[in-house]
Amino acid sequence: MEQDLILDGLNEMQRLAVTTTEGPIRVIAGAGSGKTRALTNRYAYLVEYLGIEPSNLLCVTFTNKAAQEMRRRVKKLIGGERDTGYISTYHGFCVQVLREDIHHLLYPKNFIILDTEDQKTILREIYEELGLKLNDSKFNRNLKKIADMKVDTGYVEQLMNPNEVIDPAEIEDQDRKILLMYLKKQKRVFGLDFDDLINFTFVLFQRYKKVLAKWQERLHYIQVDEFQDSSSKQFELVKLLSEQHGNLFVVGDPDQTIYEWRGADPKFIVNFEQWFPDCQTIFLNQNYRSTPEILSVGNSLIQQNKLRVEKSMFTEHPSGVKVVHYHGKNEQEEAKWIVERIQTLVKKQGVNYNEIALLYRSNYLSRFIEQELIHSNIEYSIFGGFKFFERKEIKDALAHLRLIAFGDDLSFLRIVNTPKRQIGKKRIEFLKERAEAEGLSLYETLQRYVDHEIFQRTKAREFLEAIEAMKLKREELSVSDLLQDTLQATGYEAYIREDGDQDRLDNLMELQQSVVQYERSIGEDISLEYYLQMLTLYTENDREDQKDSVKLMTIHTAKGLEFPYVFLVGMTESVLPNERSLRDRKEHALEEERRLAYVAVTRAEKELYLTESEGFTGRGQKKYPSRFIFEIEEGLYQRVGVIEEEMEQEAREVIRVARRIQTNSEREAKYEEGDRVEHPVFQIGTVQSVDERKRVYHVYFEEMGVTRPISWNFKKLTKVGA
Ligand code: ATP
Ligand code: MG
Repeated sequence: MEQDLILDGLNEMQRLAVTTTEGPIRVIAGAGSGKTRALTNRYAYLVEYLGIEPSNLLCVTFTNKAAQEMRRRVKKLIGGERDTGYISTYHGFCVQVLREDIHHLLYPKNFIILDTEDQKTILREIYEELGLKLNDSKFNRNLKKIADMKVDTGYVEQLMNPNEVIDPAEIEDQDRKILLMYLKKQKRVFGLDFDDLINFTFVLFQRYKKVLAKWQERLHYIQVDEFQDSSSKQFELVKLLSEQHGNLFVVGDPDQTIYEWRGADPKFIVNFEQWFPDCQTIFLNQNYRSTPEILSVGNSLIQQNKLRVEKSMFTEHPSGVKVVHYHGKNEQEEAKWIVERIQTLVKKQGVNYNEIALLYRSNYLSRFIEQELIHSNIEYSIFGGFKFFERKEIKDALAHLRLIAFGDDLSFLRIVNTPKRQIGKKRIEFLKERAEAEGLSLYETLQRYVDHEIFQRTKAREFLEAIEAMKLKREELSVSDLLQDTLQATGYEAYIREDGDQDRLDNLMELQQSVVQYERSIGEDISLEYYLQMLTLYTENDREDQKDSVKLMTIHTAKGLEFPYVFLVGMTESVLPNERSLRDRKEHALEEERRLAYVAVTRAEKELYLTESEGFTGRGQKKYPSRFIFEIEEGLYQRVGVIEEEMEQEAREVIRVARRIQTNSEREAKYEEGDRVEHPVFQIGTVQSVDERKRVYHVYFEEMGVTRPISWNFKKLTKVGA
């Protein structure tokens, strides 16, 4: 009877994937073939039929939303009371490892997780200390540099050992000085950013073999979804963890790799046997998601990619309606047409709004549609663009909770004087100096000096009392009640109320509501720490979507999801494919864009609309339909709206020219590692490595003592002596 739930309703190959439990296994299959379903049922199978404890199972998915969804489905199969702790994202799992073992790296277990906003707060402080002008674009550059530095894990040792952090005062170069100051401050608040989470876990495992052995021993089975988008660090991590028991199960679709730009590499799934010679491979080829019409459009498109392995997919779904390409004369027309279509679907076909998704290449593209949706009174939710948790009042409110849980400086600075408590710059300086000298946090320092004359006529004492009172209550209250009580006790809610900004008040209420909802969805008591950690790892993509509203999101966000009705909007050349992929003249960048279009197309179950319009892009270029539309075999879709003959000629010419440039680019490397080459500006150098994917040589130039990436296409790079 029970067996039915888990194994029935799977096809033969899926069943094979579910019941093959030992050793390394890879499942390669196209979109909608039931990979995620197989992975979920396999988890339940391991628990129910092999008697494996969930605490011995690691299951990695790509987003928090996917992890939550998987947890929900697994619970349905194995019963709600079972703990399913290790179903998480890579980052989420690293947090779990570190909460348990980070003390080996001389960090406290209640370290805080820094998101981009927190990182900027730290930079702001540094800029102030150095007397530099605050500048958001510089911050972004600094953040990029910080991320670049953290590609390597060497800095972790520096962070662990305070004596090893070089004194920034001694550094001349300003960028480097900022970097070092950043590390120092990060250490002071015991904060880890997203890169650190993975790096610290690595270093922990490298240095402490016993810790590694413990985790290896614990994780008898490891499963990874969307494996094609794993970066090399993420791959190394699961490889390392599976070394003891050797049970690594990965599923993915190389055609859906859309994070190469962030380090993902499909070779880990494509060449899986290189690392796991005795692996088994299972292919799934029945599509359960889409109509044959949608499936053919997807196939027709992805077949244009050269770097791929052909898969043949079939569906038993009955034929549906033809895919539509809509071409409008301008953006307004495009938006109007989409909204009319939506209304027809709802009114004539009885479709619910939440069965409809609008997908686009970049966040900014939502705006023109939003206007029209608002105008027509259609409810919509944006996933990914609308930064709810980055709003000031939300960050403030959460900083209260963080201060209660961790007592960290960042949260303290954020709220100590909001609402005004007369604790301004001068008094903060006072606290900072004392804190530095006495090795305390700012909060502890305030506790120690609250009777000092400098705090007379301030509301420092009331603030401390409110926070302390909440600390006492935190064990007995649920997180949602704690939040509510805290905002009342500190006067923050009253402050927002008096401010009279209804939006901000609404947002606070929405936050309260979201905590309640979260508690309900988990169905267990959650600790304050757990909630805060979930939030920091939680991106906008994961917002609850229970409302009956149209969903708007980028294609990246839609990964792994499915919707009955999909509109892929703004399908304009230089938008999708994007400008950069065309400018780069690199085939692989264009192919990633094509995969992105393929991911979008394959989200649709019943009906698919591809839309675009004439006019000009933000950069003032004339807009043409995307080459991807022309690539789809004619006859597989129906066109609404007229593309004038002239327009089509021009569009095809634009694409032809771009293609010619691309095909003229070098396909083979001329030089190999160790070759001595000459450059007109950088002079003599040695090829250190050849990057096949990016088609560049990394050349070390002696004169300057630096390594630079040089394009294969650069004709003026010649062989020395040739
Ligand atoms: P993607 O590559 O987009 O992540 P996927 O391969 O993970 O897709 P799933 O999301 O697991 O595909 O499945 C697609 C849809 O097909 C889901 O609605 C799922 O419930 C359904 N499905 C999967 N397997 C079967 C099956 N054997 N019988 C009926 N429906 C199935
Ligand atoms: Mg999936």
